[in-house]
Amino acid sequence: MFLSHLGMHLQLPLLCFACRLDMMTIMKSYRKELWFDIPTRRAFINITQKVEECLRESGIREGLVLVNAMHITASVFVNDDESGLHHDFDLWLEKLAPHEPVSQYSHNSGEDNADGHLKRQIMGREVVAAITNGRLDFGPWEQIFYGEFDGRRKKRVLVKIIGE
Ligand code: ZN
Repeated sequence: MFLSHLGMHLQLPLLCFACRLDMMTIMKSYRKELWFDIPTRRAFINITQKVEECLRESGIREGLVLVNAMHITASVFVNDDESGLHHDFDLWLEKLAPHEPVSQYSHNSGEDNADGHLKRQIMGREVVAAITNGRLDFGPWEQIFYGEFDGRRKKRVLVKIIGE
């Protein structure tokens, strides 16, 4: 009964006074994992186009996109696509949390990636962006980056889009 009623709404997306279901507000959702296998320990990768592809695939025109690293030694962040700045980030992070000597970190008993955990913490886990009219609603220089701080293995980023 409910499903056939829902079917009617899909044909006729209007506010229904019978069930008070406003089909215009029924939300779509989309999920995708982006995989990376960075050959170096550290790198910054512009993933804006990959997120835009997800957005096209989702068909969502109005809503929000969440993009987060699924690993605790990698980041997703928004900044400028400018190689000088990326070099500055790398030097700054290396000053804050130098990779070596690895023995300086309590975490490094059996592993060597304590600096990667610290670097990721300061660059952030995720980005949330507005979607307006089917596009990322960004300022003129905003781009989304994957920040790798302990590479040379397969790692994932989650893209979750909700909206209508
Ligand atoms: Zn670790």
